[in-house]
Amino acid sequence: MVELEDLMEEIENLKFEINGIKREIHELTPHKHCLNCGIAIPPDKTFCSKKCEDEWNNMVKKKKRFTYIWLLFLGILLIILMFSMGHP
Ligand SMILES: [Zn+2]
Repeated sequence: MVELEDLMEEIENLKFEINGIKREIHELTPHKHCLNCGIAIPPDKTFCSKKCEDEWNNMVKKKKRFTYIWLLFLGILLIILMFSMGHP
């Protein structure tokens, strides 16, 4: 029965090797990753689903809003600084 065990072990090793080759093939085939969740998608797409696209757009919108608020805050700070310099 020792032979069968050896064979099983060899099969396991081959399975491991095949998985490695599969991964290599996946890396070689042209593909992109979904901007939102990161799973592999066809190169002509940017997102894997409409849901991910919506989530991404919402995130970008929030980021933009945050940037505007930050710039506004900096602008106000600058104006305050300029005024305080004018009237020491
Ligand atoms: Zn996605």
